[in-house]
Amino acid sequence: MKDCLFCNIASGVIPAKIVYHDDLVVAFDDINPQATHHKIIIPRKHIATINHIQTEDNQLIGHLVSIAAQLAKELHIAEQGYRLVMNCNAGGGQTVFHIHLHLLGGRQMTWPPG
Ligand code: 5GP
Ligand code: ZN
Repeated sequence: MKDCLFCNIASGVIPAKIVYHDDLVVAFDDINPQATHHKIIIPRKHIATINHIQTEDNQLIGHLVSIAAQLAKELHIAEQGYRLVMNCNAGGGQTVFHIHLHLLGGRQMTWPPG
């Protein structure tokens, strides 16, 4: 999608510190990290919100999560623990309308989240 920030990062039009990519997903450093490690993992396919995920996307969403787990392992935060977050719509804190997983780690997380 032409005007989507994360589509433009996935296609290389807008630069980002890419840490992983394959045919289906791209992962990069968050520009405003909220923890020692803060990666964003996105599908290359433009899906605006969690509400727009369709049954045909199930495998893709599974892949997104497994890449997040792989990155956590590579960052050596898998054992201590980390948090995966996917915000939905304004009330959920979503600001970029192309679904993405936040991988946060390297500090103690608290509950409830803000
Ligand atoms: P959301 O609030 O939608 O769940 O998360 C959007 C995330 O994208 C935020 O954590 C924000 O810091 C990050 N972000 C926004 N613009 C950019 C950008 O241009 N580059 C990168 N790398 N991250 C961005
Ligand atoms: Zn997009």
